[in-house]
Amino acid sequence: MDLVLSIADYYFFTPYIYPATWPEDNIFRQAITLLIVTNLGAFILYFFFATLSYYFVYDHLLMKHPQFLKNQVSREITHSVQSMPWMSIPTVLLFLLEVRGYSRLYDGIGEFPYGWFQLVASVLSFLFFTDMLIYWIHRGLHHKLVYKRLHKPHHIWKIPTPFASHAFHPLDGFLQSLPYHIYPFIFPLHKVVYLSLYILVNIWTISIHDGDFRVPQLLKPFINGSAHHTDHHMLFDYNYGQYFTLWDRIGGSFRNPSSFEGNGPLNYVKKMAEEKHNSHGGNGYKNEKLFNGERTKTE
Ligand SMILES: [Zn+2]
Ligand SMILES: [Zn+2]
Repeated sequence: MDLVLSIADYYFFTPYIYPATWPEDNIFRQAITLLIVTNLGAFILYFFFATLSYYFVYDHLLMKHPQFLKNQVSREITHSVQSMPWMSIPTVLLFLLEVRGYSRLYDGIGEFPYGWFQLVASVLSFLFFTDMLIYWIHRGLHHKLVYKRLHKPHHIWKIPTPFASHAFHPLDGFLQSLPYHIYPFIFPLHKVVYLSLYILVNIWTISIHDGDFRVPQLLKPFINGSAHHTDHHMLFDYNYGQYFTLWDRIGGSFRNPSSFEGNGPLNYVKKMAEEKHNSHGGNGYKNEKLFNGERTKTE
């Protein structure tokens, strides 16, 4: 974040906002700037990518599913907008530690003894490390002692849209993002790689809520996509993962997505429309007859 901070200071905060007597490396000034920049960045990322995904990827047929809530999209947006500023407070404290030089982030490729090879390896290690920790944190958030208070707000949306991607209780959202922040305090990572990965994981979070259940055939056994995560929203005890199915397989919580088996929420909506058409407008389908007769939990 020090790259972002120095750009923001150079072009905006130093010439236009802060008095010249306030040095750029003052910790309070850094905290205020980071708070502004982090919130601005989070809002831009959320609205830009969730809107793109909602209009160009998300299948609006899903909104006809009986478990799609009334005014759901505006409720998801309101929830996210109210949570993100609170989530940013502990995040900024970690960014502040990073800017003050406590992390293992570095500038130049030359500082890595194995150069580019180590850079690529660090990307893989970041993905593996964060995927593993998010799995266990997410699974912990389903424990009955904390679920209702912290994680249930994210499970209100049984059929999520991309706008549900950041609709968390602030502490839940922060805890699930914690692995991204602690990685560079433990392992060396290039600053630009870190920033890019941070943006990418936010986009990934949106993408697993986008209702596009397709995954390339070759990657199907490995990737935790929207099909897996939508089933997680509906069935709770399966597919806690973030990018990969690895930890769900190790932890015994993997379930082949209903959409891959032809009985996902989109199949249900299509079947429902077909039945309606065949029975000339009659309501032939019962709401609870989901997943081939299997009921979804209510909390
Ligand atoms: Zn979700
Ligand atoms: Zn969950």
